[in-house]
Amino acid sequence: MKKIAFALIFVFGLFAFSGCSDAFEFKQDLTNYAMEIEYNDEDKTLSVRQTTDYVNSSDNTLDVVKFHLYANAFREGAKAKVVSVQNEEIAYPNGKSFGNIEINSVSLSEKEAQYSIEGEDENIICVTLAESLYPNESVIITFSYTVTLANINHRLGYGENAINLCNFYPIACMYEDGDFVCDLYNSNGDPFYSDVADYNVEISYPNSFVLASTGNIVSQQGDDITTTNITAQCVRDFGMVLSQKFEQKSKVYDQRITLNYYYYDDENSDQTLNLIEQAMQFFETNIGKYPYSQVSVVETNFVHGGMEYPNIVLISDQVADYETYTLCIVHELCHQWWYSVVGNNQFDYGWIDEGLTEFCTVYFFEKNPEYNRTMKDMIASATQSYVTFARVYESVQGEADTSMNRALDQFSTEPEYVYNTYVKGTLMFSSIYDIIGEKAFVKALKCYYEHNLYGIATPTIVIQCFSNGSGRNLRPIFESYLEGKVVIK
Ligand SMILES: [Zn+2]
Repeated sequence: MKKIAFALIFVFGLFAFSGCSDAFEFKQDLTNYAMEIEYNDEDKTLSVRQTTDYVNSSDNTLDVVKFHLYANAFREGAKAKVVSVQNEEIAYPNGKSFGNIEINSVSLSEKEAQYSIEGEDENIICVTLAESLYPNESVIITFSYTVTLANINHRLGYGENAINLCNFYPIACMYEDGDFVCDLYNSNGDPFYSDVADYNVEISYPNSFVLASTGNIVSQQGDDITTTNITAQCVRDFGMVLSQKFEQKSKVYDQRITLNYYYYDDENSDQTLNLIEQAMQFFETNIGKYPYSQVSVVETNFVHGGMEYPNIVLISDQVADYETYTLCIVHELCHQWWYSVVGNNQFDYGWIDEGLTEFCTVYFFEKNPEYNRTMKDMIASATQSYVTFARVYESVQGEADTSMNRALDQFSTEPEYVYNTYVKGTLMFSSIYDIIGEKAFVKALKCYYEHNLYGIATPTIVIQCFSNGSGRNLRPIFESYLEGKVVIK
């Protein structure tokens, strides 16, 4: 995600790179989500039948499977806030509004299943299996549910210009160290953590709407109601946006990737499409091949600057100016590499994908001088804004907690999260860049990408890849930033 806080904008191997295309082949035998979705525009609901072919990819035998119900974060009375107090006005232009997910039934191989809604905030559905599920075995779990959308400019909800349909469905919790990871929604950052999976989605909606989504459209038909079938392979999540206002521009990049731009208020749409191509090309050259055949950049009503999902990024129609708009596009597209293909626990280690994405965005602008943003200026601006943040926090609270290695719910305020994750993350990778030099830095990016494709990176893996890529032990530098020991001035 790209956060824009306080009206100011903070911008901010030893492995050989084989170049072998086989290395980018999708993982096989993944969990499959098959969904039949009806969007009802009158009551702003989704009626969904979801057949999940869940694969136990852990080393443990499972008796239950747990799924996140992120849609319940939008319900009335939810403990976890979906936006911070200072963003409520942008998020709810028509006053507070609520939505939720109502589970109608759950079945296992066509037989009714036992389940419970649990978690700290009705955020988890736990399905009891009829028999133990051994490693590498799979089970078919079918959910029938209704999602009611809130009138909110957020990941899930309807606004004046578009309907954002993200995080609406039960998605399997990651399984680690003998348990499911069930972290609660948080208004800071992107409180998501999921594995790659395959998707077959059929969605019906009034034909006045245009759909942008993760994956590839395989068929589209109907008169008054359009029914669209989409498939997506080996993606970390599945998101869609519907709008009656979308105009669309597309081009094919390198005969492999269709670049789609959906917008309704952009006088510079040709220029924007060129920027999308330029960014994709830059990140492919300096990080690695984008393994999917489509990416969509979508203008929409959204509370923050932007938000990333696999193959689709949401860009806010409320950013201050075109320069900021382009900055958000580059940032969100970079997340296709950091977050989407290379995953990380975004709840516990937001700095991994946000810090790296923000610095790679700076690197993009440094190498594309026509945008008049140099790395030197962007880093100076990030440094200055961080110093100001630390000073203000010290004067108000006596001290500023400047550690980065914290889970989302351990940041006391949104600015504390934003400055320590995005701004300090940028400064940390900038220091590494300065120390090891551009050549070794790019080598490290490539090594980190290729060795974590479709996987989950941890802080240790990040530090190892940059250390191996440069032939230096960078652990002390990383740790001094992560633990808040380095003094930025
Ligand atoms: Zn981001």
